[in-house]
Amino acid sequence: MPVPDLVIAANWKMNILPSEAGDFAERILNGLQVVHGVTKIVCPASLALPTVAERLKGSEVYLGAQNVHHESKGAYTGEVSPSMVREMCEYVILGHSERRQQFGETDEMVAKKITAAIRVGLKPILCIGETLSEREAGDATVVVQRQVRTALREVPSLNDVVVAYEPVWAIGTGVPSSPADAQQMMEFIRGLMQEDFGRSALDLPLLYGGSVDANNVAGFIAQPDINGALVGSAGLDAERFIDLVKNAYAASG
Ligand code: PEP
Repeated sequence: MPVPDLVIAANWKMNILPSEAGDFAERILNGLQVVHGVTKIVCPASLALPTVAERLKGSEVYLGAQNVHHESKGAYTGEVSPSMVREMCEYVILGHSERRQQFGETDEMVAKKITAAIRVGLKPILCIGETLSEREAGDATVVVQRQVRTALREVPSLNDVVVAYEPVWAIGTGVPSSPADAQQMMEFIRGLMQEDFGRSALDLPLLYGGSVDANNVAGFIAQPDINGALVGSAGLDAERFIDLVKNAYAASG
């Protein structure tokens, strides 16, 4: 059976100034130079992308953005286009729950962004996940199914797509899902993707996100359908992030 890559991505969110980001990225790069066999991605704020791109050039640490607009250019004040991001980045996080909840992004909008990102050669990291009230109502799988199927509706293949399951109640709370519960959802997601895309779903990297740190990452990576992690707060400390990546690699066997 094909085994997807191990992927660890750090979402810096609206943290780390452009003036600090280059040195911060370089510390991560230095700490991870010895760790091969993991796709390592850092996702700074848009304004820090040029500096970090310069420092990471030619390295094994990839750069991702945190969002793009779905249009290629035009009168969209404050937005960045997929091709602008593609000049610096390989990846882009799309559909993060903070964008859905605080900026009104719908499944339809996320789908348009995914299609636009892929069109210019960006690899999307699609975020999906249920809220606490949805989980308590027994709707977690319904929500996740709707999110993933809508977002990937126009996508011809799963090549270069990464899916991050991030239960909203676990993000930034210090209370992660249990590895077993996360695995159950990942198996469900992979099953859906197999129905829609066939055997290529076996190669799809499925990341868990939500209060992952260096101490708990191994438990997630040990699950058969979890191929990595999307990390928020634990990615804001270079040493903790380096340890997290090393521990993930060790747990991948
Ligand atoms: C996130 O925001 O994608 C995330 C996983 O955050 P944290 O690790 O802080 O829960």
